[in-house]
Amino acid sequence: MELHRQENHTIKYSFKPKLFMLSAILFTGLLLGGCAKEPALVRFSQVYFDAFDTVTTTILFDTDEMRAEQTLNRIDALLQEYHQLYDIYHTYDGINNLATVNANAGMAPVKVDDRILDMVEYALSMDELTGGKMNIAMGSVLKIWQDYRDAGLVNPDVATLPPMDELVAANAHASIDNIVIDRAAGTLYITDANTQLDVGAIAKGYAGQQIIEQLRAEGVTNLLLSIGGNVCSIGTRSDGTGWKVGIQNPYSDGNISVVAMDGLNVVTSGTYERFYTVDGKNYHHIIDPSTLMPSVLYDSVTVISSDSGLADALTTGLFCMPIDEGMALIEKLADTEAFWVLSDGTQRMSSGFSAFIVEE
Ligand code: ADP
Ligand code: MG
Repeated sequence: MELHRQENHTIKYSFKPKLFMLSAILFTGLLLGGCAKEPALVRFSQVYFDAFDTVTTTILFDTDEMRAEQTLNRIDALLQEYHQLYDIYHTYDGINNLATVNANAGMAPVKVDDRILDMVEYALSMDELTGGKMNIAMGSVLKIWQDYRDAGLVNPDVATLPPMDELVAANAHASIDNIVIDRAAGTLYITDANTQLDVGAIAKGYAGQQIIEQLRAEGVTNLLLSIGGNVCSIGTRSDGTGWKVGIQNPYSDGNISVVAMDGLNVVTSGTYERFYTVDGKNYHHIIDPSTLMPSVLYDSVTVISSDSGLADALTTGLFCMPIDEGMALIEKLADTEAFWVLSDGTQRMSSGFSAFIVEE
C-alpha cells in the first residue's frame, strides 16, 4: 500500500488489492520444543484499505498459520461483498446494490441480494427503536449536507450552510414508508423518485455483525475486527483477557476511556469524525431529523452491545435524542450499554457501562 499526500494536506491511503502480508506475527505463548503441549496461539494482524471508504484492521489469534491466512483472506472477501452491496455511491458489474436501488427510485423495484433486504429491514426496525432518529430514508437531506460540507472543505473561505428551505424540501421525501421490501419477489423499491437511501449510520456495524457471525460459525475463536472504528469481537485475546478498545477523546488526541470486552462490539460516533467549519463554527455529519441540522447535544456517543448493527444504529440515534430519553432506551435493552460525552463536556454512562472500563 502507498501513502499519498493530497493537495489539502490530508493523508490518503491507496491500496494495491490482494497485496496482503501477514504483518506483525508475535508469539504470545511459549512454543516448547519437543513437548507434546497444546500448540500456542499466535497473533496475526491485517489492515484492509478498500471497504466502506475506511480502514479496517483485524487481530486474530490462531494456532495454525495457514488457517489464519485463510481467515484473513476470507475477511477481505466478505468486506468486499458487503461493501459492494451496501455502497450507495458506486455500482458494480453484475450486481444490483443500493446505488442501483437509489437510481431506480420512483421507477422500478430492483431485484437484490437477500443481504440487502435483511439490512434494510433491520435498519427499519432501528428507525422504530430510535423513534425515527436514525432514518435511512433521509438520503436526500444528507446529500445536501454532504455537498455543502465537501464544497466547504475544498474552499473553507467561502464555506456556507445549506439553505433551510432546501433541506425542508428534501425532507418532504424522507419517509420510510417510501421503502418497499418484497420478500417473495426479492426486490427493494423506493416509491418516490426524490427519496434516497443513506445507510452510513448502520452499514458498517451491520456488515461487521454478519461477518463476525459467519466467522464464528466457521470456527474462528479469537478475533477483533475494526471497520473504521466499528469494533466487533469474537472471544478474547490469547491470554483469556478481553480485547481493549480505546474510546477517542473528542477534544484531543488520545482516549477518553478504554474498555475491555469479550465477544462484544463497541461503536463510537463523534462530532470530530467528519465536519466542516462555517464562520468559525464546526458542523458535523450526524443530522437530527427534527431540526435538519447537526445534533448539538453531544460530542461523542459510544455503545457496547452484543450486536454490532444495533450499536452502530444506536450511536447515530442516541446522538439525536436528549440524554434522559437515550438513557431510558439503553436501560431497557439487554446486553447494551452507552457512554455519552455531552456537548458541555459532561460524561454520562448507562448503569452497566463502567464495568467495561479498564486502565489504559
Ligand atoms: P460514521 O462512523 O461513518 O461516522 P455514524 O454511525 O456516526 O457513521 O453515522 C453517520 C452517517 O450516517 C453520516 O455520515 C450520514 O451518512 C448518516 N446519517 C447522519 N445522520 C443520520 C440520521 N439522523 N439518520 C440516519 N443516518 C444518518
Ligand atoms: Mg452509527
